[in-house]
Amino acid sequence: MALSPDIMKTYGRIDIAFTHGKGSFLFSEDGNKYLDYATGIAVNAFGHSHPDLINALQDQASKLWHVSNLYKIPEQDKVANLLVKYSCANQAFFCNSGAEATEGAVKVARRYAWSKKDTERDEILCVTGAFHGRTLAMLAANDRPLFREGFGPKVPGFSHAEWGNIEDLKKKLNNKVAAVLIEPVQGEGGARKAPINYLKEVEALTKENGSLLISDEVQIGMGRSGKLFAYQNENIEPDIIALAKGLGGGFPVGAVLAKSEVGDAMVPGTHGSTFGGNPLAMRAAEVVINLIIEDGFLETLNEKIKYLDTKINSLIKNQTNNLENHNEILFVKAKGYGFLRGIELSEKFSVADFSTEARKKGLLLVGAAENTIRILPPLNTSFEEIDLAFLKLKELAQELYKKND
Ligand SMILES: *Cc1c(COP(=O)(O)O)cnc(C)c1O
Repeated sequence: MALSPDIMKTYGRIDIAFTHGKGSFLFSEDGNKYLDYATGIAVNAFGHSHPDLINALQDQASKLWHVSNLYKIPEQDKVANLLVKYSCANQAFFCNSGAEATEGAVKVARRYAWSKKDTERDEILCVTGAFHGRTLAMLAANDRPLFREGFGPKVPGFSHAEWGNIEDLKKKLNNKVAAVLIEPVQGEGGARKAPINYLKEVEALTKENGSLLISDEVQIGMGRSGKLFAYQNENIEPDIIALAKGLGGGFPVGAVLAKSEVGDAMVPGTHGSTFGGNPLAMRAAEVVINLIIEDGFLETLNEKIKYLDTKINSLIKNQTNNLENHNEILFVKAKGYGFLRGIELSEKFSVADFSTEARKKGLLLVGAAENTIRILPPLNTSFEEIDLAFLKLKELAQELYKKND
């Protein structure tokens, strides 16, 4: 099956096409079944074909798809109300993707400073290893020159402090900084969890400096951290939150949440999105939020997270058992938290090769920076499916050792 020459070559695509999905499994054209722990890069929060999502979308599809934000959209009111009720924010703006959410967050932060006549304060302080999307401005917020190469001048107004280094951040905070933009756990950056207390200290420093704190929860938000929002694990209150990926459970939708004082800087005409928050997207998001906040759901999810932890730790610990000639370990260390987990692999094994081999065993995973393989299960995966994933990983490890010995 050749890749189509009619499609721009922006992706190094894997030569598999899926025909349908059910729960945590995907089925391909050539008749294979895969345990999907890649979830479309943390998008299919409730796996595939969830009956509530199908019902909501079918119902809405037969009524109304799009009207534009020229009119009231009651479906938006419902979702905004849920997001506000369960977060520290008071307002929501809806868009269609992660990059739009982070860009929107940056616009809100700058506009807030501007509205307070603090017009010099327009810089966004980011951290090394960050990934905030692919628009021109977000390329400057990211920390990978490779992504930026060949795309003209770097958009000004973005600087970087070293990830996890509070002293460096302190040094780089000044009265020009409108906001610190940060992921509570870096997804693309290699499933890197912030060091303990780091975000709390970042929050304190931003407050002291009169800057805002933007939590980019595009990947870790919407339950993936074990709480609805990741910041809730850190005992902090960001001023702005960017959401997307899991929010629509597979339907494209993003959101910028803000405290009212900050969000009020945005008045009619200052920002917009033609498609943003259309009724179909809102029905999907409403279902996803309701599933997460349902009684007992997060408790069970946290048990599964603990179970996943023990599985990862024992995979790493037991990898050398029953091996005689191994000269190098495969799994270096566990990374991330919640259901945004990673395992860093030894340099001898590339993540690309590892995910190819995992796929051959019917397990879908995603690579990340730092030679890290990401494990992104659907939030409603079962304990049995976690067992299955780790059985496959264990077998795979044994095969790879044999090859390399
Ligand atoms: C994926 C991602 C983005 C960009 O999302 P898109 O929908 O691809 O634009 C931004 N921030 C984080 C943390 C992400 O993981």
